[in-house]
Amino acid sequence: MTEHSPFPFASSDVEKRDNGRVLTSLDTNGVPDFRADFPGLVTADGAPWHYLDTAATAQKPQVVIDATVRAMGADYATVHRGVYARSADMTLAFEAARVRVARFLNAASTAEIVFVRGATEGINLVANSWGGANLKPGDRILLSCLEHHSNIVPWQLIAERTGAAIDVVPLTPDGKIDLDAMAAMIRPEHKLVALAHVSNVLGSPLDVARAARIAHDAGALLLVDGCQAAPRMKIDVQALGCDFYLFSGHKLYGPTGIGVLWARGDILAAMPPWQGGGSMIDTVTFEKTTYAPAPTRFEAGTPAIVETIGLAAAIDYVEAIGLDAIAAHEASLVRQAREALRGVNSVRLLGPDDACGIVSFVMEGVHPHDIGTILDESGPDGSGVAIRAGHHCAQPLMRHLGVEATARASFGIYNDESDVAALIRGLERVRTIFG
Ligand code: PMP
Repeated sequence: MTEHSPFPFASSDVEKRDNGRVLTSLDTNGVPDFRADFPGLVTADGAPWHYLDTAATAQKPQVVIDATVRAMGADYATVHRGVYARSADMTLAFEAARVRVARFLNAASTAEIVFVRGATEGINLVANSWGGANLKPGDRILLSCLEHHSNIVPWQLIAERTGAAIDVVPLTPDGKIDLDAMAAMIRPEHKLVALAHVSNVLGSPLDVARAARIAHDAGALLLVDGCQAAPRMKIDVQALGCDFYLFSGHKLYGPTGIGVLWARGDILAAMPPWQGGGSMIDTVTFEKTTYAPAPTRFEAGTPAIVETIGLAAAIDYVEAIGLDAIAAHEASLVRQAREALRGVNSVRLLGPDDACGIVSFVMEGVHPHDIGTILDESGPDGSGVAIRAGHHCAQPLMRHLGVEATARASFGIYNDESDVAALIRGLERVRTIFG
């Protein structure tokens, strides 16, 4: 494997991909050209778009777009209740997606997979259902300083309702969750620990297996926000040893409006329903309603049928490439970007050197929004660079870093060294403009 061809497929792999659901174009050298799979990666003028905002949401490969168009068109029908063949077929496809997700996470059973709208809804589900049933005054919840607001605010809301309190694990100097500090501060009052597998701002990876051991030794459960990890590394929830794991489909090259909550079977089976409605019941009378077993108990209403089919197609796509290959590719791009950014005058790099797929930085005397706006304008090579600038829904982390906002470049399977080069050229332009 070299820096320049991070996806070394055997030709049989490529054939398998071309014969299966994944259709990746080959470039003139016969190397898989992932960019060509993504119709969103060109500007309105047809120039290549340097998209470095995959941590916000990933572009979609054509196979995912095709799968959703089919699901919304020729194959469309409701699931779980139709007596006609089309609905039965759609139900099979929908439940096959659950099997696909269970395999993707190495869950022990499909009954552990709950489809939600996204990670945000999944965390709110756990906070309301598990938290509402298990937290009481005097209990404590442990979060970290780098969490996304989605993994802070639901806990604040349930803490207010139940009388529980929140503590915050500090970070190491290079911006990782400090597990030594966590081990020192955790107490029997802590009933749940909720941490990001990969920081959406700094790219910091978490040693989930160690965090799980620390939490379990103290009698707490561990919830892992896998939004930024699931698209970038192989996830094995049984090996990680956590109790809840969440991700959003749209960051994994799938549609918006679909996400996954995985919870250990015994924990999920004991959780009360959160939202009430159709599908999640066993029997309903005005006197007493009984509920379906998990995961159906947590899926009230008509589900996101089309989006779920699209998520299954996205999982097929990334698995055909291989999560290890994706991780190696993004690690190489992060290395290149961090090295190049060190050479740009007055750039301060944030986060650890082994960041996963994400590089945050600030530039002395230039607001991140100005960096983002200038990068977006077409440079001399005719192509713009899209980065994210702001607090990234992580205001407590911004306060900790002593900044209002950062500029963030994040990578996906379609990025390569030309995107890093365009970013650096754009930043040199920013430096020239701001003097
Ligand atoms: N957690 C992390 C680490 C994230 O990056 C995001 C999305 N930026 C979320 C949670 C929330 O995901 P969603 O908006 O898809 O629910």
